[in-house]
Amino acid sequence: MAASTREIPANDFAAFWRVVGADVGEAVERVGASGWYVLGREVEQFERDLAGWWGVGDVVGCASGLDGIEIALRALDLPPGTRILTTPLSAYATALAILRAGHVPAFCDVDASGQLDPERCGDLMDDDPSLGGILPVHLFGHAADLDALEAIAERSGVPLVEDCAQAIGARSHGRVVGGVGAVGATSFYPTKNLGALGDGGAVVTGDAGIAHRARVLRDYGQERKYVHGVPGLNSRLDELHAAILRTAILPHLSAWTSRRQEIARRYQSTLASNHLDPLPVPSGSTSVWHLYPVVVADPERRDALLAHLREAGIGASVHYPLLITDQAALVAAAGAPDVRGPLTTARRLASCEVSLPISPFLSDDDIDHVVAVCNGWRG
Ligand SMILES: *Cc1c(COP(=O)(O)O)cnc(C)c1O
Repeated sequence: MAASTREIPANDFAAFWRVVGADVGEAVERVGASGWYVLGREVEQFERDLAGWWGVGDVVGCASGLDGIEIALRALDLPPGTRILTTPLSAYATALAILRAGHVPAFCDVDASGQLDPERCGDLMDDDPSLGGILPVHLFGHAADLDALEAIAERSGVPLVEDCAQAIGARSHGRVVGGVGAVGATSFYPTKNLGALGDGGAVVTGDAGIAHRARVLRDYGQERKYVHGVPGLNSRLDELHAAILRTAILPHLSAWTSRRQEIARRYQSTLASNHLDPLPVPSGSTSVWHLYPVVVADPERRDALLAHLREAGIGASVHYPLLITDQAALVAAAGAPDVRGPLTTARRLASCEVSLPISPFLSDDDIDHVVAVCNGWRG
C-alpha cells in the first residue's frame, strides 16, 4: 500500500482549538476582570452545571483526576490501611490515589471487556472480610457492570468508589457512572472526553456529607477560614479553568460524545480482519468511547501493527502495556503487591491491545482510512 501523507492523530488539539478558542478567550477575559481567581463563583457554577449535565447529586472540582480519587477515598473516612479491591489494567493514577489516601490496593483480574471482573470480584469479597472497598475503573469509556458491582458492595457492606476519568456520561444498564457508588471521581486532563487546557478533576457523589468533606479536603482541610479539622490538600480548581470548562468546553460534550459513538459504530460495522478484533463491550454499557480498543490475535505482532499504523500516519497507542502490579513505583511503595489470583486476562490485554483514534474531530473519511489500513494488515 502506498504511504499516505495524511495524519490522523489520536487527539486533534488543533481542531479542538478552532472550535473552542474564541469562547476560551471570552472566559479568560471574564475571570481576569472579576478579580477573583480561586474557588469562587465560576467554580460553583461549573460544579452545578456539570452535576446537571451528568445527572449526579454533587460535583466538587479539584486539581486533577488523581487528587479526585484520593479525596473521594479520604472523604469516606475508612480506617487507615484499608484494602481496596481494584484493577491492574488502568492508568497508574488509580492505584497511586489509593496509596496516597493511606490505603492498600488489592488487585483482581479483569473480564474480556477489560473491566474489573464482577464474578471474581464477588468471590473475593465474599471470602475475605479484610477487603474494605471496591474501586472499579470505567475503562476505555465503557461502563463497568454497575448492577453487579453494586450488589457485591451492598452484600459485603463496603463502599463502591468509581474511577470515571475515561467515562464521563457513560451508563451501565441505564444508570450513569459515578451515580451508583458512594463516590466517584473524574479528570479534565486534556486528552479526556471533557478535557481542559491543563490539569483539573472532580469528585462526584450523591451524598451531601461526602461532598462537604471533599470540599474541606481540597482546601487544606479547612472547615472555615484558618480552622483546620483534618489534614487536607491544596487541590483547588482554578476559577480560570472552571470558567473555560463551563462556557467553552462543556457545551460541546453531548455532541462530541454522540460523534464518538457514531465513530465506534462505523468501526464496528467496517473492521473485518482475521488478525484483529474490537474488544467486547461490557454487559449493559452505553459507552462514551474515550478510546477504541482492538486486540491483535497474535501478541507477538502487536508492534508490527503499531508500526504499520504509524507509517500510514495513524496515531495509535496502547492502554496499557504494563500492568500496575508490574510497576516499580508500586513495588517500591508497598512491597510485593497484593494480587488476588492470576491476572490472566489483564496480562493478555496488556500484551495485545491497540487503541485506534476516536477523536470527535475525525471525519468519516478519516475513519474509513484507518479501517482500510487495519483491514489491509496481513498480521
Ligand atoms: C487520566 C486518568 C486518571 C488520572 O487523572 P489525572 O487528571 O491525569 O490525574 C485516573 N484514572 C484513569 C482511569 C485515567 O484515565
